[in-house]
Amino acid sequence: MQVHGTKILDAASAPLFPCRPEADGVFLSTVGIDVRLRFADCFPVVLSGGGPCLWILGLHCGFKGTVLGIVEKAFSFLRAKGLGPENVERAWIGPGIGPCCFDRRRDDSWTQKGLACFGSDRVFPGSETVRFDIGGHLFQSLLRFGLDENRVFLAPWCTSCHRDLFCSFRRGDRDERMDLLFHLQGGESTFLRDR
Ligand SMILES: [Zn+2]
Repeated sequence: MQVHGTKILDAASAPLFPCRPEADGVFLSTVGIDVRLRFADCFPVVLSGGGPCLWILGLHCGFKGTVLGIVEKAFSFLRAKGLGPENVERAWIGPGIGPCCFDRRRDDSWTQKGLACFGSDRVFPGSETVRFDIGGHLFQSLLRFGLDENRVFLAPWCTSCHRDLFCSFRRGDRDERMDLLFHLQGGESTFLRDR
């Protein structure tokens, strides 16, 4: 269960289904476990790679978790596993809500935290609201932590603009979510998206 924080679990030692442990990231390096993260406007970020073992790290990145540094936490988590940016073979961001649709009231304290955290080219201030480019900020964060631009994929779609394709909390999907499922199978990593 995602809570818009920065906690990352290791699937090998996390409670299994039907438990739904609270976290916004799951590290998987064990064959035979299915991981599911759920989204409606927040951004999935999936890192996968090699090193001592094959692994996948899935993150649920909402605005608050992003401001709280979930990407930084992810790289600290990987470092503790003996994995550095050179072990990340590919990274995938989104789809999530775009700067076209994600605005926040200017006088909100989290908006102020976001303004202090996001690069100036990723925020678009208006008179009463500020629009944030969460996906663009996540992309910049991954490069800042040492990933090669050619290995990072940023999905171009806004979930709020494309409700025919995606779930959007802001556009009214209160219960429905998109599932991101992943597992390691016979030495291969596999992703599956479902609605
Ligand atoms: Zn949009």
